[in-house]
Amino acid sequence: VIRVIAFDGDDTLWHNETVFSLTQQRFRELLGAHVKDAAHLDERLHERETVNLALFGYGIKGFTLSMIETAIEVTGGAVSAREIQLLIDAGKAMLQHPVELLDGVPDTLEALAPDYKLMLVTKGDLFDQESKIARSGLAGLFWRIEILTEKDVGSYGRILRRHRIAPGEFCMVGNSPRSDIAPVTALGGSAILIPYPLTWAHEADHAELGVHRVLGSISQVPLAIQEMGSR
Ligand SMILES: [Mg+2]
Repeated sequence: VIRVIAFDGDDTLWHNETVFSLTQQRFRELLGAHVKDAAHLDERLHERETVNLALFGYGIKGFTLSMIETAIEVTGGAVSAREIQLLIDAGKAMLQHPVELLDGVPDTLEALAPDYKLMLVTKGDLFDQESKIARSGLAGLFWRIEILTEKDVGSYGRILRRHRIAPGEFCMVGNSPRSDIAPVTALGGSAILIPYPLTWAHEADHAELGVHRVLGSISQVPLAIQEMGSR
């Protein structure tokens, strides 16, 4: 019987990838003057981000440093201090971008809150995520909020143990097969995937997903949970 419903934050409750995409567009425009093949820039940035994840973790600050490092690499050191400042400004703008909720989010959480314990399980820079949660206006609806540096079997397992939740009582709702679905189903929990139109390149990797549902909108979650035999 499902007792606890956990939600991912980025691109599940609020828009995130659109903000990264806009910044990446500015990055391409800025460096377009230096390199002939601007399409190649996305690939180079993605490679640099992937390498840097192990050092910086997920989040905007690491992404900003990766943009700067890629700019230095692709221009052979010719990128100017002024252009680097523009990349830093783009990163700062991302951190201050308004939190825009996806359609149906507050209504759905309010509909579920009387019958289930709701959790928020998100990943990234602690400071940035705390700030986004505060600005989302949703914090009061959650029983527990967890901000993780990585979403894997180990970190979900620790959450379940710490809050004394049996895997069969737990359902995770999120947009990422790799972070929100695979580790939870591996632990024996339930999972609902709500794909976000723009999927981050790192999340597009294939993963062993296990049994899960796929929905088009968060508004369909209450009915899906009922159908999953919760009550
Ligand atoms: Mg997400």
